[in-house]
Amino acid sequence: MTAQASFLTDAAAEPLRRVKVVLPLPMGNGYDYKVPLGMAAEPGDFVVVPLGPRMVRGVVWTGEADATVADEKLKPLAERIDARPLPADVMAFVDWVANYTLSPKGTVLRLVMRSGQVFEPIKGQTGFLQVIPPPADLRLTEKRQAVYDAAHPEIPQTASMLAKAAGVSDAVVRGLAKAGGLAAVDIDPDPPFAAPDPGRPGRELSDDQKAAADDLIERVKAGRYSSTLIDGVTGSGKTEVYLEAAAAALAASPTAQVCVLLPEIALTLPFLQRIEDRFGTPAAHWHSDLSSAERRRVWKRVADGNARLVVGARSALFLPYADLRLIVVDEEHEAAYKQHDGVLYQARDMAVARGALGGFPVVLVSATPSLETLANVEEGRYDIIQLTSRFGPAQMPETAIVDLRSHPPEKGEWLSPKVVDAINDTLSRQEQVLLYLNRRGYAPVTLCRKCGEKMTAPDSDTWLVEHKYTGRLVCHHTGFSMPRPDHCPHCGAFDSLVPCGPGVERIEEEARLKWPDRVVEVLSSDTMMRPGATKSLLERMTNGEIDILVATQAAAKGHNFPNLTLVAAVDADLGLAGGDLRAAERTFQTLSQVAGRAGRAEKPGRVMLQSYQPDSPVIRALEAQDRDGFASAELEGRASLGFPPYGRLAAIILSGENEAALNEAARQLAQVVPQAEGVEIWGPAPAPLYRLRGTYRLRFLVKTDRRVSIQNVVATWLSRTKLKSSVRMTVDVDPYIFT
Ligand code: ADP
Repeated sequence: MTAQASFLTDAAAEPLRRVKVVLPLPMGNGYDYKVPLGMAAEPGDFVVVPLGPRMVRGVVWTGEADATVADEKLKPLAERIDARPLPADVMAFVDWVANYTLSPKGTVLRLVMRSGQVFEPIKGQTGFLQVIPPPADLRLTEKRQAVYDAAHPEIPQTASMLAKAAGVSDAVVRGLAKAGGLAAVDIDPDPPFAAPDPGRPGRELSDDQKAAADDLIERVKAGRYSSTLIDGVTGSGKTEVYLEAAAAALAASPTAQVCVLLPEIALTLPFLQRIEDRFGTPAAHWHSDLSSAERRRVWKRVADGNARLVVGARSALFLPYADLRLIVVDEEHEAAYKQHDGVLYQARDMAVARGALGGFPVVLVSATPSLETLANVEEGRYDIIQLTSRFGPAQMPETAIVDLRSHPPEKGEWLSPKVVDAINDTLSRQEQVLLYLNRRGYAPVTLCRKCGEKMTAPDSDTWLVEHKYTGRLVCHHTGFSMPRPDHCPHCGAFDSLVPCGPGVERIEEEARLKWPDRVVEVLSSDTMMRPGATKSLLERMTNGEIDILVATQAAAKGHNFPNLTLVAAVDADLGLAGGDLRAAERTFQTLSQVAGRAGRAEKPGRVMLQSYQPDSPVIRALEAQDRDGFASAELEGRASLGFPPYGRLAAIILSGENEAALNEAARQLAQVVPQAEGVEIWGPAPAPLYRLRGTYRLRFLVKTDRRVSIQNVVATWLSRTKLKSSVRMTVDVDPYIFT
């Protein structure tokens, strides 16, 4: 409650308390309410308020009173929820993200409150404990004995858990409890997490690693905001180093919390196991696969300070930490940190803001840092710690370019004879091969031999990708799929559809034909559908049971395959084309990461990149393993064009089903484009995917100098006109996808 927001209605009467409440809904920046007499309502408090006919939960916020609503019109708060208030730094973070992304505060608060069920009363469960010793007069039948043996004296289990363990019905469990062999207790529906033990010894660090860890520990102890990049080649032990910083933060205070962010795809079991080994207990996990009960437990336990170590995907940044002291952003270069729905935020950048607002250090980690981060280092805003060699005997792999112009694959094949030779070599030494191609399915394009028509998804400008296993044509943008037709839908020709270009399934087919006695498998998001399947595939690869793994990006992350010594990129040029600002950067990063999978243990690794453009700067830099050379050339190019990180971009996307209304809206906006120094606005132009699911899309791109607040420019511009409700507008500050 701010001083401005409270005033007296009448000198004689009780003072009217007026507060702003932000609701986790995609609208506005909060509404004013009256605080009923006797109710405490301070900033951060969770409250229930009437909103039209509904009752909605929200949070009391700070801020100016809404002068347009008279006191008499105010509705009273319905209830103050008895829960820990939202900490001030979390509120400040919501405000900051809303301002930065030009989103209503409510939409950002929804990220914080998404586990809405935390406030729902939940039915407690009864658990049963083994009674030791059992009552003297207890008669144990065989079934009861099995239940008794399955029970634990301290860890309660539900009747159904015990029944399942003993292979009996629930009734036997209850019967045994009645007879006194089990004691009934209430089970906490959100059991606390065991405290991580930072005192457990970590691995013994090399001198480089130790120097890096000490530097970070100093920063943690200083307890001030700082941003540091750990820049180290894959396998240099960056994880070991930042785990020491996490340990120092946890050891500094019994309430301190640490958050480790990873791209969702990198949240693998071996990684989580490593954290558990270091701290002696599992961390609280936060990712999209959690059940709502797990979500509620983590949310509540983070809010009450019990969950002290959180490992999660980008949205873990929005948990209501009671006492956050350190954020680590692993694989900070990953485009997966950008959220593409709702609030369009970049979690790496927001993590830095969170650290600044909360006054604690942020550590960014990568073997191939983003150009934004490198520019921040260059300009002194972020510090850098470098780890230049792999840990132990492992060496960086040698990289060779295979020029497909002079060493083309046989007709109808995709692997160059040079790569085939190298594979034969590797297999003859009983070592493993990874063939990398970032394309799911069998063939990216299917066309009709007769009429030349490319198969596209209905209502979209997207190509259908053939998937052989399922026998379907699939749109990777919309998820649309159909059985592969035997007639061309356009000209009616029979059996005329031919696949063009390779996907992982086609490379797998080629490998199986060439090496029929070898074990060949595919790893892609399609084969990762069943959770168990991925795990067993990765285990088999780790144990050397797979000879050739054909994989999309899914394999580029965080796995150590000790016997993998050859990595070949089937199409290193893929990703270089297209109007995407970060295409070259991303290609460089992904290929370096994939290359980093080779030779992680004692055996030296080898990397081959098949390319039709061996002279492109990206491919050359990869060959020379000259990351800094690549980065400085790319940064120079960006600087000369005024693109990020040296300028700022925002995309305004208009979409709608009615093309005429959409064009009219774009014209309306184009008419009021702001003219200012350091501001350029391009468009409207059709988005590269102009038609998606029957919706048309037009795009403006705003570019400003770094000194200009792009948020102000966009907000001022958009406030000048009101669009029809049939046209949807999305504002994307710092866009990452340009489709
Ligand atoms: P990065 O995060 O830089 O890719 P990791 O921390 O994953 O590197 O380390 C790579 C491998 O080397 C892992 O298997 C890790 O356990 C091992 N390793 C790194 N540092 C040490 C160390 N000091 N002692 C023992 N093993 C280490």
